[in-house]
Amino acid sequence: RGVRNNFIPPVRSNATGGGASAASRAPGTGDNGLEELTKKCLEMLVGPDGELPDKLRNLEPRLIEHVSNEIMDQDPNVRWDDIAGLEHAKKCVTEMVIWPLLRPDIFQGCRSPGKGLLLFGPPGTGKTMIGKAIAGEAKATFFYISASSLTSKWIGEGEKLVRALFGVASCRQPAVIFVDEIDSLLSQRKSDGEHESSRRLKTQFLIEMEGFDSGSEQLLLIGATNRPQELDEAARRRLTKRLYIPLPSTEARAWIVRNLLEKDRLFNLSDEEINSICKITEGYSGSDMKNLVKDASMGPLREALQKGTDIGKLRTEDMRTVTFQDFQNALQEVRPSVSQNELGIYEEWNQQFGSLS
Ligand code: ADP
Repeated sequence: RGVRNNFIPPVRSNATGGGASAASRAPGTGDNGLEELTKKCLEMLVGPDGELPDKLRNLEPRLIEHVSNEIMDQDPNVRWDDIAGLEHAKKCVTEMVIWPLLRPDIFQGCRSPGKGLLLFGPPGTGKTMIGKAIAGEAKATFFYISASSLTSKWIGEGEKLVRALFGVASCRQPAVIFVDEIDSLLSQRKSDGEHESSRRLKTQFLIEMEGFDSGSEQLLLIGATNRPQELDEAARRRLTKRLYIPLPSTEARAWIVRNLLEKDRLFNLSDEEINSICKITEGYSGSDMKNLVKDASMGPLREALQKGTDIGKLRTEDMRTVTFQDFQNALQEVRPSVSQNELGIYEEWNQQFGSLS
């Protein structure tokens, strides 16, 4: 049945005196419920034949809507050039993921790529940025979900949402599904007292992964974690490529500082000063560096207010530029968020399970 035949537009009709919009209608009121999808959502999901793919039938419209509106990001807006350093990861990902998504005809048979990629390492090192950049570079649709929200926010419904997620993604190929904190979904803990619902959720997730791994679909699953050691063997088996995303090098930290400051054009720092900031910040993550720059950028504003200027009357052109001293002050406030101990765990896991070349 063509969806357009029975589609009820989600607009108030004057002729009938108005009615509930499709989005606000209660689930299950249509004959198969799919009439409840909003026009925007339907347009995104119907195939060239005007049919809604079979995969979406039997799924609850409100979950399809949620995936399409909240989890799907049509314009991830991150490019490789926005990511500092991480040359090894970029090279692996280009070969393993981007080329196959762009040229599925070449990447067949022995060249067929794995469908699961794990990015692991300390928090704030660019794992999510890489996921978005992959989608951007490969012109793929990007789906972002945090696995902990599946277990906390979607209690009892996680399984259904997972089905909707994979169903919608398969209608929007090529697609990248990014699962943040994947350890909370595929962890090896809890095997004894594991909650029945989280066990079912995990099974559903593995079934969905298995399904697209064996097919010719242009779907890639990226899992990200700060706790790779908690993943079980089944998860490791499915996430065939496992890339360590380490803390940024000195050069990468300098790049992040420059890039952020240049956006505002309100700084007065020599190359030497930027280099010495980067030497002092050994052990800082990319996101720590961003916080440092933000804090330093507050320096001129704090100073102006301390001198008694009224915030309502303060003109941006009267504020001084950001200086090295602002960074020295900010360094007292923004400390590195990753400990040496934690780094040791990542290095060890990388040696054992990581894709080293
Ligand atoms: P993760 O997913 O590894 O926890 P994110 O990708 O969400 O980290 O990064 C958080 C923020 O930190 C980004 O929005 C960006 O501003 C900054 N950042 C982290 N790593 C990098 C990097 N390699 N290059 C540029 N910015 C970075």
